Amino acid sequence: MKSNENEENNRIIQSAIKSILESIGEDVTREGLLDTPKRISELYSELFSGVGQDPKEFLEIGFSENYYDPVLLTNISFFSICEHHLLPFIGKAHIGYIPQGKVVGVSKLARVVDVLAKRPQIQERLTSQIADTINASLDALSVFVVISAEHMCMTLRGVEKPGASLTTFSERGDSDGVDKLRMAIYSEYPNELENMNE
Ligand SMILES: [Zn+2]
Repeated sequence: MKSNENEENNRIIQSAIKSILESIGEDVTREGLLDTPKRISELYSELFSGVGQDPKEFLEIGFSENYYDPVLLTNISFFSICEHHLLPFIGKAHIGYIPQGKVVGVSKLARVVDVLAKRPQIQERLTSQIADTINASLDALSVFVVISAEHMCMTLRGVEKPGASLTTFSERGDSDGVDKLRMAIYSEYPNELENMNE
């Protein structure tokens, strides 16, 4: 984003936050709230930095390698923002793929998770977008992605169930390969996968 555009967007966010604070009956001139609109606009540019960014760019540079067995990157911490309430959901992602001649640097997979998480999201779509990105970029035989996360919108409001976690799965490609990945991740993280029998 260009810096003028950036400044203009920050200004819009700041005035919106000020309006929200006024609408809930707050005095926006008191010391504690004075810089809150500015802090939130800075926070938002970080939380939503993935909007408009294509995660495939991180997987463009790969390495040719005669390796045709499962590759797992597990326990990737992430946070995202639920698009229904603009509250965070926080959890772990586990990614597995079986390459067919092309592998990528491990940090790149974590970057894919981050870019897709830093936008208004729902967990189901985040999971399938990660799987689709890897599938499309790596021409992998199989891809399997698991995400387990706690949603603040469920913890703080409505049903108020702290500690409940939502688990979502996406698989792409050859199903025997998917089974291998599923078992490999399952052996490391049995809790995440215990409810996966359909
Ligand atoms: Zn929500």
